[in-house]
Amino acid sequence: MNRIIPVTSTMTYGQMHAAAQGLGIIIRSLPRMEGSLMGAYDEETKTIFLDQRLLPVQKRCTLMHELVHWEHGDETCGTIYDTKAERRTRIETARRLITLTEYATLENIYEGDKYAIAEELNVTVSLLEDYRTWLQENAYSSVAMRYRRQILLAGKSRI
Ligand SMILES: [Zn+2]
Repeated sequence: MNRIIPVTSTMTYGQMHAAAQGLGIIIRSLPRMEGSLMGAYDEETKTIFLDQRLLPVQKRCTLMHELVHWEHGDETCGTIYDTKAERRTRIETARRLITLTEYATLENIYEGDKYAIAEELNVTVSLLEDYRTWLQENAYSSVAMRYRRQILLAGKSRI
């Protein structure tokens, strides 16, 4: 699959939406999605569905999540929450919307308060938690180590 999302961590929902449309991806808002689904993706029609009732920050994270599915050419999203593809998508989504430098800085400033950090990063708390999971699992990679030390020095880190 040779697809690349031209989306960066600083982009607003509107900018991400425009970038996706530029790739020929159709984005549809639905008045109500099944169960607790916030969004869905259909590879056959290259369509992303978003629940209209989402808060702006949820819309931004959900759109990014569905774009990661598009990038991988996943058939669909959301049928079984904890599949391997879903897990990979959640981690990748978090890594696209949060940069390590920014995260480490905010960990220090807000002393690990995930609500404050998520708000500052314009991401949902659950996306921030996915990012922390990734950091924890990769704590010994060289880049993470460098920042981990900085984060640990803040004293209240939960990563
Ligand atoms: Zn998904």
